[in-house]
Amino acid sequence: MVLSTRAGALTGEDLDDLAAWVRGLDGPVPVDEVVVLACDAHGAARPTWAYVEADAATGVARRRCLSCATTVHVLDSGARWTWPPVWACRGCGHSIVEVAAGLGGGERVAWVVLAARCVECGHLAGLTDLLVDGLPRDEVVAAL
Ligand SMILES: [Zn+2]
Ligand SMILES: [Zn+2]
Repeated sequence: MVLSTRAGALTGEDLDDLAAWVRGLDGPVPVDEVVVLACDAHGAARPTWAYVEADAATGVARRRCLSCATTVHVLDSGARWTWPPVWACRGCGHSIVEVAAGLGGGERVAWVVLAARCVECGHLAGLTDLLVDGLPRDEVVAAL
């Protein structure tokens, strides 16, 4: 794990760094599982590079696969969509990210937090979080 602070911005070298950072985020319950979001449209390849739109104020997010442009709304974001802009890195201005979700609450998920790692400069950033009403863990993971 290589987490470093470059000019005040936390950066990570890879998905492990992103996952470790998400695991330490503060929320209503501790994060007990981190899921890396990947596109399901490529068989076993599961590419992780994506664009993401997220609204931290309303707890909605969707991601678009860089390879195939498949768009996935996170949980019920589609029903509550607020048209946030495409996320851009504060550090370098690029928009391609890897996204991980932290789940808290065990088998009955109470909280989901999304975070991104800029693939250009490694900047780590929180995107948004959602309170979930005790949904089964598998149901949540299937809808990320
Ligand atoms: Zn794809
Ligand atoms: Zn960046």
